[in-house]
Amino acid sequence: MSTFLELGLKESINRALTDLGYENPTLIQEKAIPQIIGSNQDLKAFAQTGTGKTAAFSLPVIELIQEDDTSTQAIILSPTRELAVQIGKNIEDFSKYIPDLKVVTVYGGSSIEQQMKQLKKGAQIVVGTPGRTVDLIRRRALKLGSVKWLVLDEADEMLNMGFKDELDKVLEATPETKQTLLFSATFPREVEAIARNYMTDPIEVTSGQKNQGSENVSHEYYLVTEKTRYPALKRVADVNPNIYAIVFCRTRRETQEIADFLIRDGYSADALHGDLSQAQRDSVMEKFRKKNIQMLVATDVAARGLDVDNLTHVINHKLPDQIENYNHRSGRTGRAGNKGVSIALIGRKERSRLSPIERILKKKFVHSTVPTGKEICEKQLFHLIDKVENTEVNEGEIATYLPSIYEKLENLTREELIQKFVSIEFNSFLSYYENAADLNNLSSRENSRGRSSNENMTRFFINLGRKDKLNPAKLIGLINEQNIGDKVEIGSIDILDTFSFFEIDKNFEGETLSSFEENRPDYNGRNVNIEITKTDRGGGGGRRRRGGSSGGFKGRGRKKPSGDKNFSGKDFGKNRGEGKKKRPTEGFGRKRRRG
Ligand code: AMP
Repeated sequence: MSTFLELGLKESINRALTDLGYENPTLIQEKAIPQIIGSNQDLKAFAQTGTGKTAAFSLPVIELIQEDDTSTQAIILSPTRELAVQIGKNIEDFSKYIPDLKVVTVYGGSSIEQQMKQLKKGAQIVVGTPGRTVDLIRRRALKLGSVKWLVLDEADEMLNMGFKDELDKVLEATPETKQTLLFSATFPREVEAIARNYMTDPIEVTSGQKNQGSENVSHEYYLVTEKTRYPALKRVADVNPNIYAIVFCRTRRETQEIADFLIRDGYSADALHGDLSQAQRDSVMEKFRKKNIQMLVATDVAARGLDVDNLTHVINHKLPDQIENYNHRSGRTGRAGNKGVSIALIGRKERSRLSPIERILKKKFVHSTVPTGKEICEKQLFHLIDKVENTEVNEGEIATYLPSIYEKLENLTREELIQKFVSIEFNSFLSYYENAADLNNLSSRENSRGRSSNENMTRFFINLGRKDKLNPAKLIGLINEQNIGDKVEIGSIDILDTFSFFEIDKNFEGETLSSFEENRPDYNGRNVNIEITKTDRGGGGGRRRRGGSSGGFKGRGRKKPSGDKNFSGKDFGKNRGEGKKKRPTEGFGRKRRRG
């Protein structure tokens, strides 16, 4: 294995890398750095996030930049603002002992004037998102006439996100003589076309097999029905008390819905998708990075900029439409030498979609069974015992109370004491799962429980929620105002933060849709929209409200299943002696607003 100095980097860069704790180059760095330093040839690199690709293209560029020339010599394009900021920050870190080297990061959603001012002062390296970069070129604030290196990072994602035109414009604004460095985890046709049209005889380097997933990730699938998909997700979380995962969904709506369900059910979760404002996304990502959130429910695009090395799981709530994206998703775990598990929740008919993914991964999916209630209880019990064993006792603080506590408990034997303490936490899990169905038995009557009544009902989505001050009574009032029919029966109602669901007698499905369509009702100044939803969150074990253990995660209240159907925010503190703590839903609900 070579050192960074042996790859051709100067001492000032090497020192910065030592400060960052980089001891040896990664595979892609070993291949790309000397190649870029030693040759002007274009380069196509197959590299996923987590392989050290940012340093692989940044370090040689920093090495070769002429600091005494303030013109822009390198332009680095990245698909998302988060990734651009991350790259800009890395370059600052790598070049901290090269004072005259300046990097400016430009992206949308932030003051363009400010960015123009920064560019005016001169920056040898500019990192940007495609849209904002083109905007700045048009305004002549960004001049690319002296560019020697053009880096396209995550080229597949940029094309996925529809930045083809912007890429073309940037490519056209740069001199023919430049060296183009294209980094991509996958090479679908569109990326190959960019390489063909804009690169000259590129040399290929890979950080492993093309498109192949990380060695450290194992792939599992669970067979679910639409009814058991969400309960299965909860069980995966329950059987992994220290879970730290991204749950990938296909649409913004699905993302928000699953996050709302998880939060409602007491899990440490939040949503990340494009309907949130930039500030909200930043806040969610920060909470996730700090592990104040255990499960981040995200769309593929929104999760791109998130740089987290120690995820335990990636969960595909639904498989991505494009199989290449599975690779992107699963590559978020098993990074920096850690092991990771990528789980796909799939319906029977989707099984055929696994083979093409397996061919890309060169790995087989393992069929895992959805954990049973008993397995979960066992896992939680031993997790609890470990926690008890590892809990530090603050002797000074509790000393004054101990004499009276000992006196009160003196009649209990050691065994009785242990049993009682353990049961405090554990009983609620037991009661939650005591009658839980086996979710692997897809055709069992248990799993279709409730379907007969639901079969007569259609479930509707409505774009109003708690934040619109909607409650069940007001929703029933709103439905009645539409004059759908005298005999229309309204079934279950679920009010969530920003949207809700209600069931209507199936016979009135059409009338319901057309009435809302014709009346175009307005609720507190908002246009009301309804849609038939296919998502079904029913099924699964026992009671509704429950929670995973907070494990080693910071900043959250203790969460556990509650057998109490009348569980309320007020009860939470009282029952658990945690007077100041809020129910998880309150904390998240207040902060999340759709943009
Ligand atoms: P990237 O693939 O650029 O997103 O990098 C993934 C992670 O690996 C980041 O947290 C980097 O800081 C880290 N990293 C990159 N190169 C090295 C290296 N040579 N040694 C240790 N960590 C590294």
